[in-house]
Amino acid sequence: MRADRPGRVVEGPGLGSRVSSPFSSQAFSKGLFLLLGLLLAGAAPAPATAVQADTLDLPRVHVMATGGTISNTEGDRLTGEELIRSLPGVDTVARLTVEQISNVASGAISLEQWLQMARRIDDLFSESEDPPAGVILTHGTDTMEETAYFLDLTLAQCRPVIVTGAMRTASMLGADGPANLMNSVRLAVHPEAREVGAVVLMNDEILPGREAAKVHTSRTNAFVAHGAGPLGVADPDSVVLERSPPPRTCGTPAFDLSGLESLPRVEVIHVHLGADGALVRAAVEAGAQGIVMASVGRGGSTPAQSEALQQARAAGVAVVRSSRTGAGRVPVGSGGGEGGPGALLGAGDLTPQKARILLMLALTRTEDPDELRQIFRTH
Ligand code: ASP
Repeated sequence: MRADRPGRVVEGPGLGSRVSSPFSSQAFSKGLFLLLGLLLAGAAPAPATAVQADTLDLPRVHVMATGGTISNTEGDRLTGEELIRSLPGVDTVARLTVEQISNVASGAISLEQWLQMARRIDDLFSESEDPPAGVILTHGTDTMEETAYFLDLTLAQCRPVIVTGAMRTASMLGADGPANLMNSVRLAVHPEAREVGAVVLMNDEILPGREAAKVHTSRTNAFVAHGAGPLGVADPDSVVLERSPPPRTCGTPAFDLSGLESLPRVEVIHVHLGADGALVRAAVEAGAQGIVMASVGRGGSTPAQSEALQQARAAGVAVVRSSRTGAGRVPVGSGGGEGGPGALLGAGDLTPQKARILLMLALTRTEDPDELRQIFRTH
C-alpha cells in the first residue's frame, strides 16, 4: 500500500492500541473478552484504552516512517503501519504509535522536511500526556547518516531518536528491516538509552549520529562509525550500551531552529585531478553561502580550484576543506586568515556530507571565521 497521507498518526500493533484487528488479533480477542466480562457484570462499557490496561504500563515508542529500502517490496512500498506489523512479540516490549512522514527513497528527503522532523520530534517529547520514551525514524540508508547528524545537532531533547532502515528490501530473502526495527524498539525503551540522543541502528550496532557512515552499497554490514566505533550492540539476549555519547546539555539544542524556514545553501564539490574552477564558480553564482570541498588527502585541491576558492572567499563565501578519503582529519585551523571575508577552515574528522550539515547550521548563526572554526572544533 502506498502512503499518501503524511503526518497521520495511528496506534500500532496491539500496544495500547485503539486500532485492534488489523494489527493484533490476539489483542483484539483479549479486549473483546474483557469487554464481555464487564457487560455481564453490569458495568458500563470501558473505553478501548482501559481494555488494554495490561499494556498501558509499557513505554510508548513513536515510529516515524519516511520510506527507503526497509519499506520496499516488489513494485510497492510498505507503510509504517505495515512495517510494525512485521514485528512479532513487540507488544511485550512497547506500545507503538506510528506516523507516515513520507514514503520515498532517502535521496528525496528535503531540507524543509528535516526542519519539520526535528520540530515534530521535540514536540513529541514535550507532550504532557504520555510522551514517547523514544522515537524511531525509518529511513532509506543512502542518506540516513545525514539525517541522524542533522537531528543530533538540532534536537533539544537527548532522548533516543533511532534512525534505522534496511539494506535488503522487505521481499528479499534475509530481509534485515524487521530485525533492525525490533532492535530499535528495544533500544528506545532501554533504561540506559534515555539520553543516547540521535543514533543509527543497523546490523545490530548502535552508531553515533555524528560518526555513522554508509560504506558499502549493498551489504547488511554497510555502516560504520568512523573513528569512534559503535556505542553498543543489540544482541539477541539484551541491548548493551558499551559507552555513552559525548556529554551535552539536554533541553538545549546545539543549533536552535526557531524561526528558520530554510537553511543556507552549501554545496559539496569533489577534488580530482584536472578539476578546474568551473563548479566552484557555479556554486557561488547559484548563491552558495558555503562550499565544502571533498578534498584529496588532508585538504588539497587543484591549483585551478584553489584560485576559484580564493575568489569565492573574496565574495564572502565560507570554504571548508574535508577529505574524500573517508577517514582521518583535516585540521580545523588549517585555513589561514587571508583571502577575503569568507572563512577557510578544515572539517576535522567530518566527512564532506557531514561537514556540509554543520556548515549550513553554523551559517545560520555566524559568518565570522573564528566563530566558524570554534563551531567546527566543538561539534
Ligand atoms: N535507495 C534506498 C534509500 O532510500 C536505499 C536504502 O534504503 O537502503 O536510501
